Amino acid sequence: MEKFHITDVISLLGLPMPSNGRSSYYIQCPCCDDSPRNKHLNINVKKDVYRCPRCGIYGGIFDLYALYTNTPRDKVHKELLKRLGSPEKVERKKKTVIPTPVIDCPVTDIEARHATYTALLAKLSLAQDHRQNLINRGLSDENIVKLGYKTTPVVGMTAIAKQLQSEGCYLAGVPGFYRTSAGEWSFYQNERGILIPVRDMQCRIQGLQIRRDNVEKRKFRWVSSTDMKDGCRAESWTHIVGPVRPMSLLTEGPMKADVVHTLTGLTVIAVPGVNTLTQLEKTLTVLRKEGLSEIMTAFDMDMATNYYVRDAYKKLLELLGNMNFKYGTYVWDPRYKGLDDFVWEYLLKRRKSQ
Ligand SMILES: [Zn+2]
Repeated sequence: MEKFHITDVISLLGLPMPSNGRSSYYIQCPCCDDSPRNKHLNINVKKDVYRCPRCGIYGGIFDLYALYTNTPRDKVHKELLKRLGSPEKVERKKKTVIPTPVIDCPVTDIEARHATYTALLAKLSLAQDHRQNLINRGLSDENIVKLGYKTTPVVGMTAIAKQLQSEGCYLAGVPGFYRTSAGEWSFYQNERGILIPVRDMQCRIQGLQIRRDNVEKRKFRWVSSTDMKDGCRAESWTHIVGPVRPMSLLTEGPMKADVVHTLTGLTVIAVPGVNTLTQLEKTLTVLRKEGLSEIMTAFDMDMATNYYVRDAYKKLLELLGNMNFKYGTYVWDPRYKGLDDFVWEYLLKRRKSQ
């Protein structure tokens, strides 16, 4: 005997249908999303179920109908028969449903991310080798505390996630968090390193980066839980440290920005990479309104040797020009690979000569 499908109810209710034959997709949750831009309600067309990882509502076809129409659950079947006819007769577009792997949960808003990451970092500590690494860069213990750097946790992630939830933190849509096969929230973590909060101009944590121990290439990576159940990916957020001023330094990498700001007092903006400019444009549009007019770029020296990086850098300067910023480039001694090395060496020499 043919049964009703969840898509019958979805089209009857006028809800968004899945695109491209997807078997799982997200729409605005009627219980916890106050804007259509937020989409937390997951509908699984293949399993005929829905579930919101944020507020926890879930159910099947009849529950979905009851949820949107306020029809008592036990009256739903009868009402569907009345409105749609018998399930065999419902006209359905013949569509092949391609089973998709896990679809990312959309990233939640900045306030929720900031609150959750702040609470998470408060539960973690900084290992001695990491502290020493940061001290070697010229940071003091006080600086480190202020910046909020912590060591990646190794175990107990489901326990921490549970604690965060009980404190009222949202975990859905916060990159790094996901559900285990047992359905428990956890935090994705498989590499040891230093966690770096990436902040907006109001000092709110947008996302976290990891400075990974024991790797040479791609030292910095976003904390992300993409491709995991109820997980989501990080965007290439821009990091800002220091108050908005007419002149800012622009560099690559949030940790470098933090170090340079701490050592020089300059306001520093950091892109995660020279080839990730989408978020930068958004950030600069806001900062320009706040009074930023001049940008000094300060990127690592492999700029001079790596064509790919040089090309991306050219695009970045084009963006600054198109946005009518005054800009220039800080040039430093090429013996130092990066700006923070240079600043540090410079300060150390100055200190010695005094
Ligand atoms: Zn919800």
